[in-house]
Amino acid sequence: MATIFTKIIKKEIPSDIVYQDDQVTAFRDIRPATPVHILIVPNKEIPTVNDITPEDEPLIGHMFTVAKKVAEQEGVAESGYRLLLNCNRDANQEVFHLHMHLFGGRQLGPMIVRK
Ligand code: 5GP
Repeated sequence: MATIFTKIIKKEIPSDIVYQDDQVTAFRDIRPATPVHILIVPNKEIPTVNDITPEDEPLIGHMFTVAKKVAEQEGVAESGYRLLLNCNRDANQEVFHLHMHLFGGRQLGPMIVRK
């Protein structure tokens, strides 16, 4: 079964794509947590960080190059931004198709709520 993100990548369902190439697609999060909230997604279905293999290393590296490009495009490269990946239950991963969040456009505060 294709993930919701595969359907977005294949343009079977609508989304606001800000960057796409043969390896990676970046689109706006449907429920933005910050003024700039983009998801950077490998076109290949990799469920979680735990499923990344050594063969995926160029692809994972490319996600960072795309993140940098998108940050410039969105005007947050200099002001700053945060990249984040959730893995499994304790991180509240919702969609099991690897994705990197890019948050920016305001002061983001501490990295994590301390308990
Ligand atoms: P996770 O918690 O898995 O790291 O994040 C999944 C993200 O995907 C959430 O921020 C959620 O708002 C976003 N999302 C879920 N479904 C869709 C969708 O159909 N379209 C878009 N653009 N974003 C989605």
